[in-house]
Parts: sequence; C-alpha cells; structure tokens
Amino acid sequence: MKPAQFQYHRPTSPAEAVELAAELEEAEFMAGNQSLGIVMSNRLATPANIVDLSRIDELDFVAVEDDAVRVGALTTHRSISQSTRLAEHVPMLPEAAAQIAGPSVRNRGTIGGSLGEADPAGNYPAALVALDGDITLRGPDGTRTVDAREFFIAYMFTDMAEAELIESVSVPRGPFPPERTGMAFDELKRAAQTWPTISAGASVRVDDPDADAPVVEDARLALANAADVPLHVPDAEAAVEGEPLSDATLDEAGDAAREAAEPSEEMHADREFKLDVAGEYGRRALETAYDRACGTGGEPA
Ligand SMILES: Cc1cc2nc3c(=O)[nH]c(=O)nc-3n(C[C@H](O)[C@H](O)[C@H](O)COP(=O)(O)OP(=O)(O)OC[C@H]3O[C@@H](n4cnc5c(N)ncnc54)[C@H](O)[C@@H]3O)c2cc1C
Repeated sequence: MKPAQFQYHRPTSPAEAVELAAELEEAEFMAGNQSLGIVMSNRLATPANIVDLSRIDELDFVAVEDDAVRVGALTTHRSISQSTRLAEHVPMLPEAAAQIAGPSVRNRGTIGGSLGEADPAGNYPAALVALDGDITLRGPDGTRTVDAREFFIAYMFTDMAEAELIESVSVPRGPFPPERTGMAFDELKRAAQTWPTISAGASVRVDDPDADAPVVEDARLALANAADVPLHVPDAEAAVEGEPLSDATLDEAGDAAREAAEPSEEMHADREFKLDVAGEYGRRALETAYDRACGTGGEPA
C-alpha cells in the first residue's frame, strides 16, 4: 500500500520546524523515516502534513561538555555507533546503536526518531533510562528538559506536547568517570534485523579497578521490551552496590530484574520465557559492565 496524500515541508531550523508543526493541520515530524514510513505505508497514520527534519544540520552532533555528553536528535544510529567520543564517555550508546536492525536502518534512523516513537523495545530509551539522561524539547513556548525516566508513557506516547520537537539528549558525566566505569548493552534477537525479545543496558562504576576485588560504587540497569515502558530496575542496582560483584549479588540482581518485568507475550516468546530472559540479560549486562570497569574483559556473553 502507498501512504495517503500529504503536504511536504522541509524546515532548516528547529524554530521553523516547531512553527510549522504548530500552525499546520495534522502535522507529523519525520526524521529518518525508518518507522514512520512503515506506519504511513500501512495507512495506520495519515498525517495531512509532513515536517521533514532531515535538513536541520544543527541537530546532528555529539558534544562532550564539562558536565554532560549531548547528542543531537538528528544524529543517526550509524554516527552514534561510530563515535569515538561516545565510545570513551558513554559507551552504552554506541553499543546500543550498533545492534539496531541492519545497515540501511542505521544509516537513516535517528536517536530523536527512536525516542519519538517511544517503542518500549527501543534501545536508546532503555539506555537513557539506565543512565538517568535528560531529553531537551523545543515547543512553541520555548525549550524545556525532561528526565528520561519521566518521558515515556507507552508505545507512541510520551511527555511531549503538540508541536514539541526533541532537540537533543544528554547524559551526565559526573557519575561515569571512564577510567573506572564499564557499560554494556545487549539485545536478544531472533534474527539479524528484528526487534529484540529483551535487551538490557547496564553501567557499573567501581572504587578502584586495580584492587583485588573492586567494590561496585554505582550500578545502573534498565531493560527494553520487558514492560510497557523502558524499565528501570533500582532493586537490581541496589543488589550489587556496596561490595565486590559476586555470583550471589548477581543472582539477587537477576531475580530483581525478573520480578520487576511485566512483559507482553509475543508469538515467539511467552511471558515465562521473557521473564527468564529479563533476569538473565539483566544479570549478564551487569557482569559485563563490571568486567569492563575492572579492565578484565567483558565481551557480551
Ligand atoms: C526492521 C527494523 C528493525 C528495527 N530494530 C530496532 C531495534 O532492534 N532497536 C531499536 O531501538 N530500534 C529498531 N528499529 C527502529 C529504528 O531505530 C528507527 O530508525 C527509529 O525507531 C525511528 O527513527 P527515525 O529517525 O527513522 O524516525 P521516523 O521514522 O522518521 O519517526 C518516528 C517517530 O518519531 C517522531 N519523531 C522523529 N523525530 C522526532 C523529533 N526530533 N522530535 C519529535 N518527534 C520525532 C516522528 O514524528 C514519528 O512519530 C528497527 C526498525 C526497523 C525498520
């Protein structure tokens, strides 16, 4: 099927994009068109006006600032997966980006589009929830910043108001000193280009990577496709914090992830299977992140 007819608009600044979205009837932003195109081709969305963001060059950036790392909304999955600055400061983002679909989707799809779609199975939503990132929005009344943990409501539903645009995301640098922090993002996929059954994103900061048994000072864990929203799992974090990582603390964290999950059944994965995978992937991501923080390996299992 082809999309229904629409009027096409191509602004060159965020302010112009917001102005168009506010004044036009039934307007929809388009970024990489990797998700919207499918929805429109099936006529599940029939916007009268498309506001194409792809020529807003100023929203395509990675910036390492004093207190935070910021990524512009129009930055593609490919650019994020290949960013050496992100690999140094927030390695969870490139690792999450590299596992999205295949090269054609990664070449065009953007971080802003992924957050706008708000699929609970999405990689960046879980990564930003794990890292307690922020999302900066621009609307007709100016800009505002929302905690990623407050942003997602359900699939396609977010805290965004009418005509609001995602401009950028930011992750604080303070909690994640690269020399003693490890991060991991791991998807369980049925096939190369599918969405994940479950994904887990974890970060672990240790007190001293050279100690015999480094103590976990700070742990972060979120799961994708384990609930209606990207799922933060504070009980799993608490289970591993304050002592060296061990099988016992990892088991406790895995149990906490399993207990927190409220997954929907899928054709290929019933609820019980997804609960098991949520526990196992939560456990593995924390273990990989710890190994990376200690410099003792940490390839995803
Ligand atoms: C086969 C396939 C497999 C995939 N697998 C995965 C996967 O494993 N993990 C994963 O995370 N994703 C996956 N995706 C989704 C992929 O990441 C999409 O690229 C992404 O979700 C949408 O990005 P986009 O830039 O193409 O957005 P678009 O398709 O252009 O837009 C998506 C939605 O976001 C809104 N939007 C876009 N940009 C903005 C903005 N700046 N501000 C406000 N709203 C905005 C649009 O209005 C639209 O509603 C997959 C997609 C496909 C086709």
